[in-house]
Amino acid sequence: MKILVANLGSTSLKWRLFEFAAGQERLLHKGGFERVTDYTQAIEGCLAQLVSSGAIAQESDLAAVGFKTVLARGLTGCVRLDEAALAAMEACNQIAPAHNPPYVNGIRRFAEKLPGKPLVGLFETAFFQWAPEAAMRYAVPENWHTAGVRRWGYHGASHKFIAERSAELLGRPDVARRAQNLYLDAGATPVDSPDLRVISCHLGGSSSITGIRNGVAVGNSLGLSPQSGLPHNNRVGDLDPFALPFLMRATGLSLDEAERQMCRDSGLKGLSGVSNDVRDILAAAAQGHPRARLALDVFIHEIRRWLGAYWVQLGGVEAVVFTAGIGENQTELRAAICAGLEDLGLTLDPDRNGSVKATEAVISRPDSRVQALVIPTNEELVVARETYRLLQAQPAST
Ligand code: ADP
Repeated sequence: MKILVANLGSTSLKWRLFEFAAGQERLLHKGGFERVTDYTQAIEGCLAQLVSSGAIAQESDLAAVGFKTVLARGLTGCVRLDEAALAAMEACNQIAPAHNPPYVNGIRRFAEKLPGKPLVGLFETAFFQWAPEAAMRYAVPENWHTAGVRRWGYHGASHKFIAERSAELLGRPDVARRAQNLYLDAGATPVDSPDLRVISCHLGGSSSITGIRNGVAVGNSLGLSPQSGLPHNNRVGDLDPFALPFLMRATGLSLDEAERQMCRDSGLKGLSGVSNDVRDILAAAAQGHPRARLALDVFIHEIRRWLGAYWVQLGGVEAVVFTAGIGENQTELRAAICAGLEDLGLTLDPDRNGSVKATEAVISRPDSRVQALVIPTNEELVVARETYRLLQAQPAST
């Protein structure tokens, strides 16, 4: 069975094609377009490349298209993306303005181009469905909560991949199985003792941290919107709610403009005044640029704050995992995040840490009680696997 996974940006389309057969999964093709202005054309280009590369003979060879959808009202998990699901996503456009509109548009274009083909979304919120309620509530009046003001958590596909893969690498196939089956049995797959406790640090354009006990998330640093939690590339991260009314009243800033600035001019870009890319910020800091240094320091401080939070919630950890663009590549930031954690049992190995980029590796010392791991994430594979499982579970309606 061949499953295409499409990653939809506001001006980009990236894809991976997977094949599932006889218990084996294989990546058949990957590609992408940047600076997309016409999505239908980009989809046609994608399908043409799949055919010309020999990955598929014709469009009908595709069993389904899977999407890493972000947030929908009243909907999570892995679901068929029918009109009702798209409307539920549109209802959340204001919470995820950088993510939901391009996704809804792209999915509609796929539906036009491939009529009748199953389109499946794995929501980024799905992995956090079983987190304790206390980790997902804000201290707001009950009617705010009913209106939808709650924590959701995002980056679910990435953190789920880390839950599965870290358990395999740590020699716990039982926990890996529970994580794999999570959307089928809501964590009912039994595991051996002792508990396997992992903190997953997804540090990239957007960043988030999650505590994971036996394959199940106990919370996520992202809250109601993908603009919360850690500072992101250009999005604000957590902010005292009174900052907004204070600034608007004091300066006359409009709500729309404040929202734009929190989504585009904040985060690492706003702090550094240099760039939204950590590579540029590190280079500027090395040249003595004080705001670039401050941006990195704030980022590291916030990461350590969440790391500490989940370390305590889990009552200790067996491993800390770094993933995504920054987590997989930035040795200097990993060293700063892990500095001084020897009393908590984590001692980084400077040589291993310094030499590991974008490959799976242990970067702690052999005698470190807590392991530090680098695991390149594979969100598309998680989406493809869940899409495959959904089609297996609901074959009649394909
Ligand atoms: P997203 O998918 O959310 O756009 P990524 O996971 O690709 O983000 O991460 C983007 C960030 O990762 C950028 O800030 C960039 O500085 C950093 N990054 C990406 N690739 C590398 C690399 N090869 N070396 C160092 N940093 C990298």
